[in-house]
Amino acid sequence: MSDSFRSPATRAVTAGRGHLPPGDPLNPPVVFASTYAAGGAVGYARSGNPTWTALETAIGALEDGEALAYASGLAAAAGVLDLLPAGAVVVAPAVAYTGVRELLEQRVVERKLHVRWVPMADAEEIADAVAGADLLWLESPTNPLMDICDLRAAAAAAHEVGALTVVDNTFATPLGQRPLDLGADVSLHSATKQLSGHSDLLLGAVIVRDGGLRDRLADRRTLLGAVPGPMEAWLALRGIRTLAVRHERACANAAELADRLGAHPAVHRVRYPGLPGDPGHSLAASQMQTYGSMVAVEVAGDADLAERVCAGTRLWVHATSLGGVESSLERRRRWPAETADVPESLLRLSVGIEAVEDLWRDLDEALSSAG
Ligand SMILES: *Cc1c(COP(=O)(O)O)cnc(C)c1O
Repeated sequence: MSDSFRSPATRAVTAGRGHLPPGDPLNPPVVFASTYAAGGAVGYARSGNPTWTALETAIGALEDGEALAYASGLAAAAGVLDLLPAGAVVVAPAVAYTGVRELLEQRVVERKLHVRWVPMADAEEIADAVAGADLLWLESPTNPLMDICDLRAAAAAAHEVGALTVVDNTFATPLGQRPLDLGADVSLHSATKQLSGHSDLLLGAVIVRDGGLRDRLADRRTLLGAVPGPMEAWLALRGIRTLAVRHERACANAAELADRLGAHPAVHRVRYPGLPGDPGHSLAASQMQTYGSMVAVEVAGDADLAERVCAGTRLWVHATSLGGVESSLERRRRWPAETADVPESLLRLSVGIEAVEDLWRDLDEALSSAG
């Protein structure tokens, strides 16, 4: 594939295919193998598989870097944290994806790492906290509060002190935000979500531009064994082929619903970076290509009311996870690991690609009848 076609929407369709000799299948086959005939580039399947290589080429092309695929988003996160020496100092989001926070908290309890917890929306506090740090972990928009972090400012502050900067880019997707262009060293994805897009697999990825860092991460992945299965890699690549159209539709639906929800009598507050009145809007406009398909809604009432809304929808699926073609919602505080900073009445909406009027009618009815 000629490198001159640089649009990410085009690359999502073509990347990972390579030059096609006459008679070859268009798509890379799924290769089930634990072992390979001796003497080749890959000796054993824990260090490589042609199906992941195709997927990694495609994910890397989306953010102009080199990608590594993992068994899950959390495996990718653990693979990055595992590079840190004992006693390292990490600056991390006080309220963001719970799995990464739990990974860090465990390492603090086990006295392996020191963590300074910071609010993602406060650039000054992040800049102050990175003094003497080894790694800065960022997430924007945050899961589930939808706070926006000034990624340029945070990465610049980290680089001044030599700290590695990681951005969890799951909510934005590679089409919505390019952390490596904003100064980050690692862009991380739960490819379980929008990238694969069909709620049928677990997969993670990191994207980097430094070859040495890529090699260190790849060595660690091999030793941890946190590698993807070939079937998952193949399905994820198939999902990526339609990422651009899914993303465009899901973002348009999310923007429309966020706007309408803001005026709904059963809604107390909506967070969506695309809303002109959102506290993160101008920052998001300066660093994101699209505002994404995630919306946070605080219903005007308590946890029970929020649960009744979830139970009352017919089209929206009541489930955790996000980024599938189907719209889903859940009350985040139903999970004990979610912090008390997340309101009891907060619903996290993952907006899919259904007809927006159907999504609105279902949500409107569930909100109106829950009260
Ligand atoms: C889901 C998620 C993860 C973890 O990914 P898994 O594939 O579930 O391991 C990490 N970060 C964010 C923002 C997520 O939403």
